Amino acid sequence: MDRFCPKCGSKGKTLIKNLCETCFWDQRVSHIPNNLIVKLCRSCLSYLQGKKWVRIRKKDPNSVALEGAINELKRNITIPKDTKILKIEGGATEWNLSGLPKKVVLDITLTSEGASSSLKREATVEYITCDFCQSVASGKYEALVQIRGEEGQLSEESRKTVESSIDKFYRNVLKDRSDITEIQEKDGGIDIKFLTSSKARLFAKKLSEITGADLKETAKIMGTDRMTGKRHYRTTISVKLPALEPGDLVSFKERIFKVLGHHRGKLILEDVEDHKRRSLSQRATADVAKIDKTDIKRVSIGARSGSTVTILDLEEKRFLELPSEKISGDLKEGDVGLLINLDGKEKVIRRQ
Ligand SMILES: [Zn+2]
Ligand SMILES: [Zn+2]
Repeated sequence: MDRFCPKCGSKGKTLIKNLCETCFWDQRVSHIPNNLIVKLCRSCLSYLQGKKWVRIRKKDPNSVALEGAINELKRNITIPKDTKILKIEGGATEWNLSGLPKKVVLDITLTSEGASSSLKREATVEYITCDFCQSVASGKYEALVQIRGEEGQLSEESRKTVESSIDKFYRNVLKDRSDITEIQEKDGGIDIKFLTSSKARLFAKKLSEITGADLKETAKIMGTDRMTGKRHYRTTISVKLPALEPGDLVSFKERIFKVLGHHRGKLILEDVEDHKRRSLSQRATADVAKIDKTDIKRVSIGARSGSTVTILDLEEKRFLELPSEKISGDLKEGDVGLLINLDGKEKVIRRQ
């Protein structure tokens, strides 16, 4: 007796898993949805996956639409375990008046039981505005981070630190979806508007960890939602950057230190003479005083005679005699050092 396909009754055909080839593939293809709908944001080209907006790492709208269509297909597909998608290709086939793709056709190749089959599926692309772009367009923001220097103005060095922190935050935390809606120069400092308070707090915390900045948070009620009764707040986080920066020379307990930086809110100092490191808590930094540039002079170490050393002030070209205990032990004749005036007491240290 001839084998026949139990589904369509056709005889004399090669059977795959008991079905003729046509019926076998019909059964599998029926699980692959057609007439997909891809929703893209008209301004940032984010793609709406379920309820979540996803940024596709492509700039060309045709590529974004294609990737969106492939994602939609994969999200809605349920194929039997014995079947795999070998490849999906395709592209936009129709465009709207703005030149944005409105129809995408996918060429799908399936493989199962050593055989393969191709089919086409269509996707319609719709354009709406994502939540983020909507908020940006309406000027809405939930939190403001105000970055200022200790005396208002941000120093050049602090500004660089803030800028690199913003870059790092974009790279490591915000990834492609930016919660920062505006960065503005304000009163010698920088104001950053965030869409959400949580991201603003995280940014302020990270900035504080590397700079030792003081944080102060205040919230203001902006109104109450009439539908839900929920209150809307606007958070302001004031970030005050300390005046001390890496490389600065400071005095602490009558010794001279070089500022190495901040780590997890602590100030890291290095003793310029014995090179021992100290990390000071926020409270202890109250006793740290920056040594003014006018109190630091470049000097050349001269000859030692008895208990005094002759040094040459390289700026004013004059010789001075200092007791040898005021010269740091690691300085030899001919070395260049720094003469520091520490509250009237002089000290010569190795050049930093
Ligand atoms: Zn059949
Ligand atoms: Zn958008």
